[in-house]
Amino acid sequence: MPMVILLELSEPADAHLYQVSGEDPEPAAVHLVHAAASGPDAPGDPADTTLCGTSTARMLPTRWQPTAPGERWPQRWRPWACRICDTALRSAR
Ligand SMILES: [Zn+2]
Repeated sequence: MPMVILLELSEPADAHLYQVSGEDPEPAAVHLVHAAASGPDAPGDPADTTLCGTSTARMLPTRWQPTAPGERWPQRWRPWACRICDTALRSAR
């Protein structure tokens, strides 16, 4: 199943600013990093909730895709990976 990696920002209201500018937020602006299944109709578009059940509405989706089997998170954001999403990803692959 294709997954979308999403950044949960410390200031969720900033998500659309980053989306418009296309810039990656600084690590200090990121609270947690989650994973969601991508919507069936729009690949790359996240489902309404993450694998841990949090709403994706105010999260910043990334375009990251795994480049190697078993890779679950972008290297840059691995330290912020949500443990519940990580466990779900591990059993999904
Ligand atoms: Zn999560």
